[in-house]
Amino acid sequence: MIRYVNVSKEYGNGSKALSNININIDKGEFVFIVGSSGAGKSTLMKLLLKEIEPTSGKIYLNKLDITKIKNRRIPYIRRNIGVVFQDFRLLPNKTVYENVAFAMEIVGASPREIRRQVPMILSMVGLSNKAHNYPNQLSGGEHQRVSIARAIVNSPSVLIADEPTGNLDPDTAWEIMKLIKEINRRGTTVVMATHAKEIVNMMKRRVIALEAGKVVRDEQKGVYDHEI
Ligand code: ADP
Ligand code: ADP
Repeated sequence: MIRYVNVSKEYGNGSKALSNININIDKGEFVFIVGSSGAGKSTLMKLLLKEIEPTSGKIYLNKLDITKIKNRRIPYIRRNIGVVFQDFRLLPNKTVYENVAFAMEIVGASPREIRRQVPMILSMVGLSNKAHNYPNQLSGGEHQRVSIARAIVNSPSVLIADEPTGNLDPDTAWEIMKLIKEINRRGTTVVMATHAKEIVNMMKRRVIALEAGKVVRDEQKGVYDHEI
């Protein structure tokens, strides 16, 4: 469902972020992307969101070459991929309910669909009782639950998570991982970039390791690193 074919990315300043990347991710997979800072993890994800264009190569989402599509079809990508960030990125002047509802409004959902779907998603992430709170009234874990609710409310086929536990204490990080695991179990493909070594090692899922813009390891039931 996601394919990178001979993808390279060189930024304008000559910095080579990715060199000849080939990755296939099947529907329903759970994939960790690991690698030190600057290895190219964010670049890989931004390419899939069409926030940036590759210097060469093709990127497929559900058989569609997204490097070829017209800008007017970018909403197709945004509906099919939910994104979660380390720093949550909630709208501070909207309540929990409104933050999630807004994600539906921008893809043109009807008020009726929104009224039906938002409470269902808030219940799934365990935030029904915080629907009318503002972000500054939430703990870190609750922030991340809202941002996950927002990411999945349009039923995307892919969830991209860029260091989603980076700002959370270990217990809260595990709560969030349980939630992401459940979303994957229900059929959503998950691609998660992370430095959380313990989480990667405990989850026993596919691990793709990047180093200086190259795939240096791609293992099923992988580990964060192989200590020598
Ligand atoms: P990671 O997410 O693994 O930390 P990135 O994809 O952010 O890695 O960065 C990969 C490389 O590309 C790094 O050398 C980084 O400095 C460079 N890079 C990232 N974004 C830009 C940019 N907008 N302009 C120039 N170079 C960039
Ligand atoms: P944590 O222990 O994860 O840091 P907090 O101590 O920040 O959590 O919050 C504990 C609980 O109190 C959370 O459920 C949060 O939603 C609630 N809470 C925190 N600050 C406020 C606030 N200013 N107004 C209302 N509820 C709050």
